Amino acid sequence: MSLAGGTEWLQLWERAVPGPPRRRRRELLASAGARGAFHPAQLPVGRANSVLLRLHATLFGPRLDCRTACPACAQALELEVDVADLLGGEPSLAAEQARLQVDEWDMHFRLPSELDVDAAHDERDPESARRLLLQRCVFECRRGEEPVSILAAPSDVQARLVTRMEELDPLATIDFQLACGGCGHKWSSALEVDAFLWAKLDAWARRMLHEVHELARHYGWSERDVLAMSPWKRQIYLDLVAA
Ligand SMILES: [Zn+2]
Repeated sequence: MSLAGGTEWLQLWERAVPGPPRRRRRELLASAGARGAFHPAQLPVGRANSVLLRLHATLFGPRLDCRTACPACAQALELEVDVADLLGGEPSLAAEQARLQVDEWDMHFRLPSELDVDAAHDERDPESARRLLLQRCVFECRRGEEPVSILAAPSDVQARLVTRMEELDPLATIDFQLACGGCGHKWSSALEVDAFLWAKLDAWARRMLHEVHELARHYGWSERDVLAMSPWKRQIYLDLVAA
């Protein structure tokens, strides 16, 4: 898998450009999953993020160059992150089903998947989204011997459960603790792997269309002809056109 052929990635880009970010994420996951044995929508969120990180490594290299700005003084900050370092935090086995006991509460649950998060996105506020995620992911909840809804559990028990889910799927959220070299302000910033990867693909696709445009205008070749060319041959023609 690489960007060299170009056509399928350009088609993915074209399909996903008009859609919302969740749709782009699904398209990226599906394109990676088509080559594996898993159904991307059923993956726990952190597992899906690791698939996207590996896709980034394959298409654009193993390093993520992140740029952000200090929220206090706006000074720019650059951060280099290695995909391998992030993947090192991933447990070797995904705990797809797990159990947590807190006092008299006994909860059997699975980790939130992409489908669960999609469903939660349709909720009107974060609190209803949180409740929906718990309802979907906890398939058995007992207080002592009595089966009850997870929503009947006190908020500290629910919070313990959410914390346990995060521990079992650590790449579900990728946070960095940052410090500004200018003013000393410290803050936490989350890496949205899908948005990061999408921005790279978007820049690549626009560059490709520009190259097609240049060569089509000069030589009259079709988009298909230009995309079928190897990148180095295309570059030689582009250099000749610019000369
Ligand atoms: Zn600052």
